[in-house]
Amino acid sequence: MTITAAVLEELKAAVGSQYVSNAEEKLMVYSFDSTFQEHKPEVVVKPHTAKEVAAVVKIAAAHHVPLTARGAGTCLSGGPVALQGGILLEMTAFRRIVELNADEQYAVVEPGVITNTLIAEAAKQGLFYPPDPSSSGMSTLGGNVAECAGGGRGVKYGVTRDYVLALELVLADGEIVTVGNVVDGLTGWLDLPMLFTGSEGTLAIITKITVRLLPKPQAIKTALAQYDHLGDAAQTVSAIISAGIVPTTIEIMDQMTIAAVENFLQIGLDTTKEAFVLLEVDGELWEVEQQLEQIIAICRDNGAVKIEVAHTEAERTALWKARKSISGACGKINPTKIGEDIAVPPAAIPAMIQAVKEIARKYQLNMVVFGHAGDGNLHPNIMTDKRNAEEMERVEAAIGELFSNALALGGTLSGEHGIGFMKAPYVLQELGPAGYKAQKAVKDGLDPAGILNPGKIFIEQELE
Ligand SMILES: Cc1cc2nc3c(=O)[nH]c(=O)nc-3n(C[C@H](O)[C@H](O)[C@H](O)COP(=O)(O)OP(=O)(O)OC[C@H]3O[C@@H](n4cnc5c(N)ncnc54)[C@H](O)[C@@H]3O)c2cc1C
Repeated sequence: MTITAAVLEELKAAVGSQYVSNAEEKLMVYSFDSTFQEHKPEVVVKPHTAKEVAAVVKIAAAHHVPLTARGAGTCLSGGPVALQGGILLEMTAFRRIVELNADEQYAVVEPGVITNTLIAEAAKQGLFYPPDPSSSGMSTLGGNVAECAGGGRGVKYGVTRDYVLALELVLADGEIVTVGNVVDGLTGWLDLPMLFTGSEGTLAIITKITVRLLPKPQAIKTALAQYDHLGDAAQTVSAIISAGIVPTTIEIMDQMTIAAVENFLQIGLDTTKEAFVLLEVDGELWEVEQQLEQIIAICRDNGAVKIEVAHTEAERTALWKARKSISGACGKINPTKIGEDIAVPPAAIPAMIQAVKEIARKYQLNMVVFGHAGDGNLHPNIMTDKRNAEEMERVEAAIGELFSNALALGGTLSGEHGIGFMKAPYVLQELGPAGYKAQKAVKDGLDPAGILNPGKIFIEQELE
């Protein structure tokens, strides 16, 4: 235990006693994220200003108390779980959009703002914030920046790091700094915002975020292609990319995913199909019509047996419904859902999907595969029961093989969900000893006492 009665009193003095709680029920509520792992913090602290965050960090530093920031807790890699106890820093009180500058196309937001709130507020001014994780109705922008969240629009628009212009941060010694600027500058290291984007709460606490906005696209077209063979669907994805077309979205769903969604929603999906590919293009009206025609031709050439095009917003919502419901639907198959997010180069998608299917067969596991296939991001999800120790051993072995296959195909352990502690045992395999040591040196430089989110990403003792 690191929280003594004296530390508790200091925390109460820093943020107000009503925002500090070590009640058992509170600790339980904050003991998990969207994975199946649970670790209770020792105290939950809810600051409201950067100065309060700085005061809490200074207390943690002075007493060597672990400190884990948390947004909405939708993380899929264990990031906001207080693995080593200590302080859980609840960041949801930071929910103001500080500035939305339509002329200069940027927004300044606090980290607790829900992603969809910024998307909706920007749209009211004719602007567009592209990163759209499937959790965007729940996730916070602080969590998005900390995880460098991606989403369905990643093929064309990239991920969160492509939009972060500046960050206000509280460093591990409690100092408040701002990195980056709305104007391009040449003072010091150019891309400090990028260093902190994706750092998973291990380098600093984010207290303010400035993001780039784009003009809202004039038109969007959506289509759903259905396939009798999963391999044809996978081939379509790489054919579209290699044809030089840049759609906004290419999402893939395999047969087990389609069946899970149909079982959940009963909306008449054709569960005899081995795969669906959801496609979206945006831009000027003439351009989207032309692109959609080209894409439909590629789908047909690669074996699509049915293609539906949305002509109204209601039809577009209907085509998206299955994709948006996957998470809830999969949760009904088995009690424990383990969502992985490997990414491979788009040309390797057919081989990776094949590997996923073979691994599922080999380890006799319920495994669905879906994802933002256009940027190579696949989510093999294993539906299991964490109470079944024998099956969990097979799950562990299957996950190891998924990662080895992704790396062998030139891919990565994590396309967008981060490392947290669930993928930490595999980081060395991807980075190699020299790469690992270089990244760990940055962590040690910025957080020498290791108080920020300990136990995440860097766990290799023998290299230290
Ligand atoms: C149904 C579902 C669908 C999802 N779809 C996607 C998807 O399409 N794309 C995608 O990328 N992810 C997806 N995710 C994962 C998750 O939503 C993202 O990682 C999201 O960015 C997490 O945001 P959050 O606010 O929930 O953060 P949390 O889960 O609370 O925290 C995530 C990490 O950020 C750190 N953190 C949070 N706030 C701060 C802060 N202010 N300062 C420093 N560190 C901080 C935490 O310590 C933790 O390491 C999905 C999750 C679910 C449950």
